[in-house]
This record gives sequence, structure tokens and C-alpha cells, in this order.
Amino acid sequence: MNHYDVIIIGAGAGGGTVAYSLAPTGKKILILERGGYLPKEDDNWNPDAIFQGRKYQVQEKWLDRDNESFKPQAFYNVGGNTKVYGAALQRMREADFGEVKHQGGVSPAWELNYQNLEPYYTRAESIFKIHGNKGEDITEPSMSAEYPFPAMPHEPRLQEVSDNLEELGLHPHHLTLAVDRNVEDPENSPCIRCATCDPYPCKIDAKMDAQKACVDPALEYDNVELKINAKVNKLITDESGKKITSVKVEINGEIEEYTADTFILSAGSINSAALLLKSKSEQHPNGLANSSSMVGRNLMLHNHSAIVAIADKPNHTAFQKTLGFNDFYFANSESEYPLGQIQMTGKSKWNRLDIFSPGSIPKPTLEYMAEHAVDWWLTSEDLPDPNNRVTITEEGQIKVDFTPNNVKTHQDFVSMWQGYLRQIGFFMFMVTQVPLSAVWHQVGTCKFGSDPKTNVLDLNCRTHDVENLYVVDGSFFPSMGAVNPTLTIIANALRVSDRLKDKIG
Ligand SMILES: Cc1cc2nc3c(=O)[nH]c(=O)nc-3n(C[C@H](O)[C@H](O)[C@H](O)COP(=O)(O)OP(=O)(O)OC[C@H]3O[C@@H](n4cnc5c(N)ncnc54)[C@H](O)[C@@H]3O)c2cc1C
Ligand code: SF4
Repeated sequence: MNHYDVIIIGAGAGGGTVAYSLAPTGKKILILERGGYLPKEDDNWNPDAIFQGRKYQVQEKWLDRDNESFKPQAFYNVGGNTKVYGAALQRMREADFGEVKHQGGVSPAWELNYQNLEPYYTRAESIFKIHGNKGEDITEPSMSAEYPFPAMPHEPRLQEVSDNLEELGLHPHHLTLAVDRNVEDPENSPCIRCATCDPYPCKIDAKMDAQKACVDPALEYDNVELKINAKVNKLITDESGKKITSVKVEINGEIEEYTADTFILSAGSINSAALLLKSKSEQHPNGLANSSSMVGRNLMLHNHSAIVAIADKPNHTAFQKTLGFNDFYFANSESEYPLGQIQMTGKSKWNRLDIFSPGSIPKPTLEYMAEHAVDWWLTSEDLPDPNNRVTITEEGQIKVDFTPNNVKTHQDFVSMWQGYLRQIGFFMFMVTQVPLSAVWHQVGTCKFGSDPKTNVLDLNCRTHDVENLYVVDGSFFPSMGAVNPTLTIIANALRVSDRLKDKIG
């Protein structure tokens, strides 16, 4: 049996970052990833393949709270979900780390504050080549450095929309993006600003996803090894139950076993919880590291809505995800409670609009709508609820027992934004509240905190119950704010890696 210093389960944002950070230590590191490399092919940028074919999405089915099965919009491959992400990487706001009152309840405080993460946000922005203009976003937290690259500029129609909304008293900002294009030197930059970025994979490897930013550089070190199509089925402890000794891994239908001194679980919040629950044993009868009964609980997904806003003017923007507004992120002139953040999404094509109401609108109408549409993405915070939980059935199937909360505030937000858009010439709206299957922003399920009775992880993301097991994906979040979660996952994984370096030497 091969023995490693460190085994990392999952090559996505969290796991990839730890591999990147630990690679220079010379320690023998094995990354186990259940998916393969996402193929580079024309279909990467083919909307039919992405929206109608759901190519690259996992084929498995999960159960909802009513035991109805659904196909999760999740992606198993090197780089994890970041292979198809919108690459809008944002810091949580300073106030998100404290208690925040919402219409639907209270978003609890973290035991860490923003300043504890700030240096790691700065490092994360450098590794992921973030583009942005410091000082534009009115909710921007204090930053110790400039963004590594200037912001991606708006194309003409988006600039016009931004100016029109600014005239109404709002504060537009450029989104902070992880794409490899230096706007001061575009000829020598890989990214071509295409129209198929969010939610497509990048055919020319110009998106700073976790594979490109972290896993590939980590694999340049001889001490780092990656096994693909390697699905971890179980973590095994010693007799005391306090140490993991090995993992059972399914590779090409065969079960293999690998041992290590330290184990880093980073399979994504839902799969990490499922794997801990599946790894129950005599010493851990309720699931591994689950003496608190908190494994799987407090799943958060964000409340998201897409608004396709139609105006008379055509919108010929190719790369649309450049504009955002945070005027309503905290209590504001429109609401005594926080509403959330507004950002652009990828430019709609008729194929994308068709999935909102399949077959019910003729293709020529959808094509007209797509040509005249400006596409918005509104995100509001949802709140941790122990009843929103991941469990597994006797057969090992994942069940996501989830009831959305803080929904009224989100609906008010969506109506309010349409009111603003009407004032600048948009007259028709296609609004879709994103369903459970879109588990894109999954966090929670193994929350961190100093009390082992109520938390799965300690503040260094080590499980309270098992001394050599860490969880570094989105599972640790005690609450999530309304910004996109991945920069915080990466920054936290860098923080945990520093603790690990102290420990493993
Ligand atoms: C369409 C889309 C758009 C998005 N846009 C944005 C955005 O603009 N900004 C943002 O911040 N976030 C965005 N996200 C979310 C972002 O992708 C996730 O927050 C991030 O990838 C989560 O990181 P993670 O480490 O928790 O999990 P992941 O990155 O999903 O990594 C988990 C990895 O573990 C592997 N795995 C799972 N189970 C096992 C097992 N049993 N054995 C071995 N390996 C396993 C998986 O295959 C996967 O590679 C988007 C997501 C999607 C799907
Ligand atoms: S916009 Fe740039 S990073 Fe995004 S898919 Fe196109 S080339 Fe790749």
C-alpha cells in the first residue's frame, strides 16, 4: 500500500488551493479526484451542448425533501465546479463576519473576523489574477493591496446601461474577475473576451479556474501526484476512532486503499458531508466526525434569480459579466433589511432562454429576445438552518432536504430591480428563481467554530473529533453573505494550508 504525507480528496477550489500551497513543502501529496480532465473540444463553447445537452454536468440523481429525484447541476472534474464558473471572485464584506439581521432571521457571526482573512484574500486574488478597480464598489472591504490587474471594461451597450443607472443615483462597479486577460496588453493575453464564458468551460484555458490556477502548477512538483477517476468511498479510522489511517477509493471499478498521515477532505459541501456520513463506523456510529450531529446540516445555497430584461435597443455585447451594483447589499433606502447583490451573467442566447420555459416560446421570438436582452443575476443571502441538511439513504444516495428561507426579501429585491430597469427603457422581463438543482453556491454542512458540541470543525478547519482530518471546501461557512463564495473558499484554504505547514513541517 502506498503511503503519503497528505491525501487531498477533491481537486476543486478548496482542494486545488491546498495542493498548490503545500506543493513547495516537498511533502508527498496525493490528490484523489473522482472526475477526469474536462475535454477541450468545440462543445465547450456550444450553447446547445451546454444548455440543452447539459454536457459535462454529472449524471447522477439526488433526492429532494419530498424524495423526488433531480439531476444536480454539479460538475465532477479536475478543477471541480470552477471549470464552468462565472469567475466573479469577491471578498465577503466586513459586516458579513458579524451578526446581520435579515427579514427572514439572523445571519450568525463568524468566530473569525475579516482582518483574519484579509492577507489570504490578497494572496488568492494574486493567484487567480483578479481584475478589478479598487475603490469603485461602495461596499468594498478594506484592502491591503490593489487588484493585480485593471478591471475588464464594459462593452458599449453595458457602459450605456451603467451610465443610465448611475444617473438614477446608483453606484455601478466593475465586477472582480478571474480571467487571464491584461487589458493593457490584450494581444499577449490568452483570454479573447468571448461570449461563452459563464457558465461554459474555457476552450482555450484562459479562465483562472482551480485547475489552471492551482492544480496544474502543483503538479509541476515531483512530490505531488494526481489520480483521476478516483472516487473516494470511505475514510477509515484506527481503533481509537481519533485518527484516519486510510481511504478506500474506486478506480476503474476496482477498490484501492491509500494511507497517509494527514487527510484533507474537499469534495464540495454536499459530497463532503455525504462522504463523512457514509464513513460511519463502530467508533463513529452517526457518521465520521459527527459527535455534534452537525454533519450535513446548515446547508446554504443562496437565493438567486435571473432577470432577462428586454429593451428596444439590441445588445451586441459579447463578454457581458463586467457590471455590478451593491447599493442594496446592506439596509438601504429601499429596505430596512439587506437585499443582496446585483451582477451580470453571461449573455443570453436563445438556447439559454429556452431552458427557462422549455418549448413554450417559438425559437424566432427567443432569438429576438436574446438579441435585445441584458441579463442580470440577483443574489440574496439565505440563512443557516439545521433542518436544511444533506443525508444519505440506505442505498447511499444523496438526499438534499432543503427549504429555501429569507425568500420574501429576495422577491422584493427582484421586483424592485425591475422598477429601476423600467426607468431606463426595459419593458419586458423574464424572471426565473433558480431551482434547488442549481447547487452552484453550496456551503455549510460542516460549520466551523470553537465549541465541539455545536461545530464539526475547529477554527483551523480540523474536525473536532478526528485529529488528522481537515475539511477545506465550502463546508466550513457558518453564514455566507450575498457575495459569490469561491474567493472565500480559496482564501480560507490558503489560511488552513499555513496552519498545516506549521504542523507537518
Ligand atoms: C455554473 C456555475 C457558475 C458559478 N459561478 C461562480 C462565480 O462566478 N463566482 C463564484 O465565487 N462561484 C461560482 N460558482 C461556484 C463555485 O464553482 C464553487 O463555489 C466552488 O467550485 C466550490 O469549491 P469547492 O472546493 O467547495 O468544491 P468544488 O470546486 O466543486 O470541488 C469539489 C471536487 O471534489 C470532487 N469530488 C466530489 N466527491 C468526491 C469523491 N467522493 N472522491 C473524490 N473526489 C470527489 C469533485 O469532482 C470536485 O472536483 C459557480 C458554480 C457553477 C456550477
Ligand atoms: S471570456 Fe476569456 S476566459 Fe472566458 S471563456 Fe472566453 S476566452 Fe475563456
